[in-house]
Amino acid sequence: MDCPNCKLPLNEAYRCATCNYDLNKANWVIIKKVYTPNEIIVESVLQSYGIPVRILSKEIPQMPVSIGPLAEVKIAVPESEAAAALNLLDDLTDFE
Ligand SMILES: [Zn+2]
Repeated sequence: MDCPNCKLPLNEAYRCATCNYDLNKANWVIIKKVYTPNEIIVESVLQSYGIPVRILSKEIPQMPVSIGPLAEVKIAVPESEAAAALNLLDDLTDFE
């Protein structure tokens, strides 16, 4: 993952040694909902552009089995990266 400010790699604690950016304190926004396993593709696309990404699984505790392969997950990125991430994902239209 890269720092959204200076595009340098973040350290293992998700902090930037250069500008003190702290990814843990970033405002994460959900930019897209996809069905598994498409989040793997979305994640790899975003990460290949250095955009930090988190996958948020939708939790349905009362029906953990029946959701099966159609489990819906949410893609979240730091708010500062949301526009860039959405731009990249515009080309990936088959994941809705
Ligand atoms: Zn930085």
